[in-house]
Amino acid sequence: SALTASQIREAFLQFFEARGHRRVASSPLVPQNDPTLLFTNAGMVQFKDVFTGREKRDYSRATTSQKCVRAGGKHNDLDNVGYTARHHTFFEMLGNFSFGDYFKAEAIAYAWEFVTRTLGLPIERLAVTVFNGEQGVPWDAEAFELWAQQGVPRDRILKLGYKDNFWAMGDTGPCGPCSEIHYHQGDDIPCSEAAAGRPCQGVACDCDRWLEIWNLVFMQFERKEKDAPLIPLPKPSIDTGAGLERIASVVQGKRSNYDTDLFQGILGTVSELVGKPYTQEGGASMRVIADHSRAAAFLISDGVQPSNEGRGYVLRRIMRRAIRHGSLLGLEDVFFFKVVDRVIGLMSDAYPELREGRTFVLEVCRHEEETFRRTLDRGMKLIDEGIAKLKQAGETKLSGAEVFYLHGTYGFPWDLTQIILRERGFDADLDGFWKEMEKEADKNKFGGSGEKAISTVYQTLAERLGTSEFLGYEGEGHEGEGS
Ligand code: ATP
Ligand code: MG
Ligand code: MG
Ligand code: MG
Repeated sequence: SALTASQIREAFLQFFEARGHRRVASSPLVPQNDPTLLFTNAGMVQFKDVFTGREKRDYSRATTSQKCVRAGGKHNDLDNVGYTARHHTFFEMLGNFSFGDYFKAEAIAYAWEFVTRTLGLPIERLAVTVFNGEQGVPWDAEAFELWAQQGVPRDRILKLGYKDNFWAMGDTGPCGPCSEIHYHQGDDIPCSEAAAGRPCQGVACDCDRWLEIWNLVFMQFERKEKDAPLIPLPKPSIDTGAGLERIASVVQGKRSNYDTDLFQGILGTVSELVGKPYTQEGGASMRVIADHSRAAAFLISDGVQPSNEGRGYVLRRIMRRAIRHGSLLGLEDVFFFKVVDRVIGLMSDAYPELREGRTFVLEVCRHEEETFRRTLDRGMKLIDEGIAKLKQAGETKLSGAEVFYLHGTYGFPWDLTQIILRERGFDADLDGFWKEMEKEADKNKFGGSGEKAISTVYQTLAERLGTSEFLGYEGEGHEGEGS
């Protein structure tokens, strides 16, 4: 039978260990040396300074299974969750890294060997991409030839542009072309392009027919100043990232990450609580809960607490979305911590910090849900009334003032209000909402007394449970660079 996700994770790390890579533990989701980055969103984040040469390690090859969250900043997949089969807020990125050691030839050979031999994926279903050359940077003929030498049919090596196949750490610093490996899941999968009568864009398409499983970044240039020409790096480096959930889905012959063993256990718990089986059709709410429970478990155990700003607010929005989906499914009692507990049970072997933080994580989840549930029904009623008024007036957008009132008085994050309105064919005036927020910030610097009281509760909780190693977090997260 097919490999489990745990077996795939282990096989990957062992494959690269056997090829001289140091197995390095995942870094926390809160980046340790990068205040500009909201959450760790790629395997390379913990190695940034090693790539730029600012930091030295006693190894030049590394392999990791990195905890990632993409729910804010440059990579924000939050709105896709539950609706695409391949995007999560929290996911694990498998990676191999070369710090000025090997380059394209080895990186390509390793990846192809792992995918076709170790995992045994059929070559007929694979395609790869190379950088097509744009904006004065030459196309990656070298990578093209290297893939061809591995036995990839030439018509399965596709040339893509800057957006998908060029990577840069930031306006300055290392950068270079990429190659992505894609897996053909089938042309019977719905594609919005095809539905609109246009041809499906294949590997370049946003649909699930061709699934991107692995991205290989070839760091071979450096930019000294913004918009300055690229200079070749004397010792080029390698950074790769493969999503474990996606690899598991193709290895296990599933078309959705949610049908892999990584999610079946969690969905099992959700469906038990709801008293209905999980199905692909109509299962979006259960998928959102399953996804968000993983994000909550890992974020809280890495020191993020729900709050009204920065990272804490992203976490709060994730948790409240999940709780509201539970309520849609008829769950009237506090339930979210039970799903999170299942996540902890399933994932603690790979990530022992979950087990260590369990009591605290569950308390934070329970408390957040109790708080939100006190106002959930009344907030929903307010939205219903708002919609009735909009209908009467022949309007479509709930005013910024009302979105702000829901935020302040009922704890409805703006994006949650927007989702609920959109589900019913209406929308939220977010420009108006942000204007209200600015007014409030001027008045009393974001997060009034109610919010302070809540964060005190969490601090008390942390002290009571003796979580002293609890990581704090400073300031607000801004958009930063990741992979
Ligand atoms: P996509 O185009 O599908 O959004 P990406 O190009 O943004 O993916 P990369 O930044 O190249 O992704 O990340 C490396 C790998 O991590 C991807 O090839 C994919 O396997 C995985 N990955 C990226 N984003 C997610 C996500 N939100 N959930 C699960 N896996 C992901
Ligand atoms: Mg993406
Ligand atoms: Mg991509
Ligand atoms: Mg990619």
